[in-house]
Amino acid sequence: MSKYRKKIIAGNWKMNKSVREAQDLTDGIIRELAGYRETDIVLCPPFTSLKVVGDLLVDTYIKLGAQNMHWEPSGAYTGEVSPNMLRDLFCHYVILGHSERRAYFNETDKIVNTKVKAAISTHLVPIMCVGETKAERESGQAKDIVRRQIEEGLRDVEGDLKTMIVAYEPVWAIGTGLTATPDIAQEMHAHIREILAKTKGEATAQSIRIQYGGSVKPENAAELFKQPDIDGGLIGGASLEARAFAKIVEAAV
Ligand code: PEP
Repeated sequence: MSKYRKKIIAGNWKMNKSVREAQDLTDGIIRELAGYRETDIVLCPPFTSLKVVGDLLVDTYIKLGAQNMHWEPSGAYTGEVSPNMLRDLFCHYVILGHSERRAYFNETDKIVNTKVKAAISTHLVPIMCVGETKAERESGQAKDIVRRQIEEGLRDVEGDLKTMIVAYEPVWAIGTGLTATPDIAQEMHAHIREILAKTKGEATAQSIRIQYGGSVKPENAAELFKQPDIDGGLIGGASLEARAFAKIVEAAV
């Protein structure tokens, strides 16, 4: 069974851009992509710029996303931001389980699972990141690691998962300039879809969009996005410059 999946490109700005710079970048992206509707587009600025970026995106086709969140709606969690707060700022999407969160902030599959459940019940679309490290790939464990991250991340997740996004981001490709070849990426994406089919059913697996992330640039985007199971990209470094980001979006038709 195969189904049309609209491609989706998300820019993960990470801990970059002052409020003013975020406004300038957003203005630039809106200008570059004025009237463009072929691909779903999401901007994920830092928390500090969600409000100004969201205000600029009103009346555009581009949607707002956050890079992380806590799972509780409110409470004594100093320094954290809740799903409801993100909804309050008109976020549609939230990146969860990014490898930098897993590596530097001890986010486990269990935590990611709790966050995915909280996002869905708050009507935020999770972009759940999975991916193996260099050592895991070299020791032949890549597929098993990704299987565990998907199975545990989506364990007992109820409700309609068809609109959620999975991002395959091999850790060795993030910010390193090393990109997975289209063949390597496609092989893992097909594996992910197979796991989704086994655990959540074929119809859900065919609807979930699986993004590739890891040093995507205007020069390599088209080849990656041509693969049958690659439904777009999660873009770090290249999303910080309006023209480069727009070129990647345009490569994803
Ligand atoms: C990311 O961090 O999600 C990412 C893909 O980064 P980069 O594009 O810079 O490799």
